[in-house]
Amino acid sequence: MMENTMSLLPAYTEVRQRIVQAALNARRDPGSLQLIAVSKTFPADDIRELYGLGQRDFGENYIQEWWQKTEQLADCPDICWHIIGQVQSNKSRYVAERAHWLHTLDNVKLARRLNNQRPEHLPPLQVCIEINIAQDANKHGIAAEALDDLAREVAGLPRLKLRGLMCVAQADADETVLRQQFTAMRQHLARLQTIAPHADTLSMGMSGDLECAIACGATMVRIGTALFGRRHYPK
Ligand SMILES: *Cc1c(COP(=O)(O)O)cnc(C)c1O
Repeated sequence: MMENTMSLLPAYTEVRQRIVQAALNARRDPGSLQLIAVSKTFPADDIRELYGLGQRDFGENYIQEWWQKTEQLADCPDICWHIIGQVQSNKSRYVAERAHWLHTLDNVKLARRLNNQRPEHLPPLQVCIEINIAQDANKHGIAAEALDDLAREVAGLPRLKLRGLMCVAQADADETVLRQQFTAMRQHLARLQTIAPHADTLSMGMSGDLECAIACGATMVRIGTALFGRRHYPK
């Protein structure tokens, strides 16, 4: 294996500049945007390096991999962990016990489990409902039409705090389609606010589409590749 001696500083600087520039172009306050560093498949040492540069919000997709990293990163106690992948019922307890955010809530059964499992000494788990905005059968998330029903259920669970909506836009979409999808998300958030008035979060935008997402109202962007480089998945 090759030793990784590359510093993450240049990529971190560039991503933060892209976010600030996109905010300014959209006449938005750059301070209203949160960068979630998506560290899936990358080692705890990479997280520690970004942490050393001031980054606190990290996103992870795979529960087991993430849990191991939390054990390895006991020296970074104020990391804010965002779960952005699917959560199987038998893994919900891990999320309830150690995550700060879940971006991918898409069913009431999982919501109830998390509500029951969230330890009393922790604040409510902050959740976003994932919308399958590309209406892609291979993608996760609920149909936009199902939002009101799920939102009402989640809003009634005291150990969860419904913060907003999340989506993954269509991967190969052109600018027009991207814009349509992100703009629709903003409209869905406005609707959600009639059920959950404090909902203020739009988690959307990744390495390839963060500018468009910010122009359309994203408040959290989830960036992996542009920070850490290409992911290599074990075969
Ligand atoms: C992996 C992942 C990201 C990061 O994507 P990049 O294109 O590498 O920036 C963002 N959101 C979700 C849900 C992901 O699974």
